[in-house]
Amino acid sequence: MDDKTINCRNCGQPFTFTVAEQQFYQEKGFEHEPVRCKGCRDQRKSTRGGGGGGGGSGSGPRQMHNVTCSDCGQETQVPFKPTGEKPVYCRECFNKHRGDSRF
Ligand SMILES: [Zn+2]
Ligand SMILES: [Zn+2]
Repeated sequence: MDDKTINCRNCGQPFTFTVAEQQFYQEKGFEHEPVRCKGCRDQRKSTRGGGGGGGGSGSGPRQMHNVTCSDCGQETQVPFKPTGEKPVYCRECFNKHRGDSRF
């Protein structure tokens, strides 16, 4: 058995499919030779694996405004700028008022 040189399907660079790797492939019963060089395989692995922490709510932070609830008087935050013309409710009171006021 000899080392084989294969052209990477991804980057086009020739890479060595070593005897050890060929044996490994045989042991595993893989029928096909690798088509990508090690660098490209590692890259795929790392991009596919992900594992990034990140988090966050997608489309950027919403600006919140501190207001006092017109109903219960407790401080709350709303995602819009209160105009002062309309009553502003905390989440609880908002749900309450939406529930009982029908149009
Ligand atoms: Zn490659
Ligand atoms: Zn309230």
